[in-house]
Amino acid sequence: MKETTLLVDDPAQRRRKGPDYDLRADPRPGNRPTPMKENPEKAAVSVIRCPDYGTDRVYGAVKEAVGLLGGMGRFVKKGERILLKPNLLAAKPVDSAVTTHPHVVKAVLRLVKEAGAAPVVGDSPGLGSARKVADKCGLAGILKDTGTELIELKEPVEAENPEGHTFKRFEVAREALGFDGIINIPKLKTHVQMFLTMGVKNMFGCVPGKKKPQWHLAAGTDALFFAGMLLDLYYLLRPRLTIMDAITAMEGNGPGSGDPRDLGLVFASPDALMMDTVAAGLLGARAYDVPVLRVAMERGIAPDESAINTLGEKAQPVRDFRFPPLMSPNFITSRLPYFVDKILRKSLTARPNINHGICTRCNICVEVCPPSVMERKDRILIDYDKCIRCFCCQEMCPHGAITSKEGWLKRLIPGL
Ligand code: SF4
Ligand code: SF4
Repeated sequence: MKETTLLVDDPAQRRRKGPDYDLRADPRPGNRPTPMKENPEKAAVSVIRCPDYGTDRVYGAVKEAVGLLGGMGRFVKKGERILLKPNLLAAKPVDSAVTTHPHVVKAVLRLVKEAGAAPVVGDSPGLGSARKVADKCGLAGILKDTGTELIELKEPVEAENPEGHTFKRFEVAREALGFDGIINIPKLKTHVQMFLTMGVKNMFGCVPGKKKPQWHLAAGTDALFFAGMLLDLYYLLRPRLTIMDAITAMEGNGPGSGDPRDLGLVFASPDALMMDTVAAGLLGARAYDVPVLRVAMERGIAPDESAINTLGEKAQPVRDFRFPPLMSPNFITSRLPYFVDKILRKSLTARPNINHGICTRCNICVEVCPPSVMERKDRILIDYDKCIRCFCCQEMCPHGAITSKEGWLKRLIPGL
């Protein structure tokens, strides 16, 4: 991958350590998280039921979820500035389940304030501004009423990542590095490329929007490469706490155009990888099919599910959650000869499919396509030979006109 060479002006900001570092310790081999004091044997993920987005109910659920982990005072200290990083993917109505619900963000910022710290909300949508997304989903009004600042994570700056497994440098938003700590507030959604987007993936929003295509280009058709980058980025930014909105999740054609699915759950953990493992398991996803979890397994940092202390609700497994088609069938490996791997990958891997009856030819997909393989003629055309299956087009299409379609060989032999 081509590396860029910007400098971080304040090295002290590259790695942050806050209070109670035991909960955020590096989970890589040899430096696994120190278990919670209350549960010396296991690290924790809390799961709390919350049936709807009533403001008080959401606040109660988030407070309880964080309380089981030791309370917000364990993660933030008086006087600190804390970045709250929700999922503000695109300017869509709140009911579409595209963004973290504003009431979840409100609950977190209230808890942070009650702990004596100063929350600031920020994100970098793939298209447009965080302000525009916040206006559309109703978050802007809450921030105004509570006197909370909203920032755009937009200025790229290079951060060294010496402990990264693969990626030793990242261009991240300068704005995201200027805080005492980060609280990650993802939305649980399906994701055509990453299968599911949860805690680890949400930190990709700290890469400025205009830099995101570079990562897609670098990854090409290799979803595992992209997942490995997400893991390294997560550990570079190392949010102190992740609180996930799964009250209404998204299933199907996520992350931008799927269907809302009521799950009625709030997850919280100081370790997003653990939280993602628990959430994926509840939905019935095999860790092997979720690229982030699969790469974590290959790197030897995947949490042992039996060693995760799940606190709170004994949530019932979800039996019929609708996942997107698998991006890459499991048997494809780099051990195959390159030309065989390439042919198989193309014929098996899911690809974007445009519903021309819905498409308005707004051209947004053409603008965001990292390798510029889309073209607007009398209809939108895709050069599938050069398409890298990043699904940025599907993610950003405002009309849900792009879905994923399984490769022809996979359709022919469904069991593959
Ligand atoms: S973004 Fe969607 S609606 Fe717009 S041109 Fe592309 S496919 Fe059509
Ligand atoms: S056509 Fe879509 S999936 Fe293919 S490279 Fe472009 S944005 Fe990515």
